[in-house]
Amino acid sequence: MENYKHILLAVDFFGKNQVLIDKAKQLAETFEAKLSLIHVVESVPITDAGYGGDIPFDLDLMTDLTAAAKNRLLALGARLAVNDGDIWIEIGNPKTEIVRFAEENQVDLIVLGSHGRHGLALLLGSTANGVLHHAKCDVLAVRLQDE
Ligand code: AMP
Repeated sequence: MENYKHILLAVDFFGKNQVLIDKAKQLAETFEAKLSLIHVVESVPITDAGYGGDIPFDLDLMTDLTAAAKNRLLALGARLAVNDGDIWIEIGNPKTEIVRFAEENQVDLIVLGSHGRHGLALLLGSTANGVLHHAKCDVLAVRLQDE
């Protein structure tokens, strides 16, 4: 089996993801790999007729969301003994940012969750599907229990 050197754990903060976190930690220990954490804050488009059109971001909301996400990711990092310098908050589309970060930082394994969607939700795509199709490195999709 390949000896992974840099594992990227992609976390959202919805639902139960402890099994995902445990798996990434276990893999990092097994391969003595560096473990990085990433969370992508999705940009929130706001429309306000008073400004005559679309405003791309609500900056205050984005600042609050980013700060809250950073605190949660830092707390998770502390539990996993991940250095603060290896904890990343990005803004944009989760799939795009996870793939970009992996390419730019020599990540050789991305670990993320899979919710086992069906029907329309599957057709619409998911972060897991998008990363699986676009990443150049290995991707482990850990099956999560839907609530
Ligand atoms: P989804 O396909 O959106 O249900 O998400 C599947 C998995 O992708 C999640 O369990 C996370 O591992 C990862 N993921 C989804 N959204 C984000 C996000 N905003 N930031 C980082 N990882 C994410």
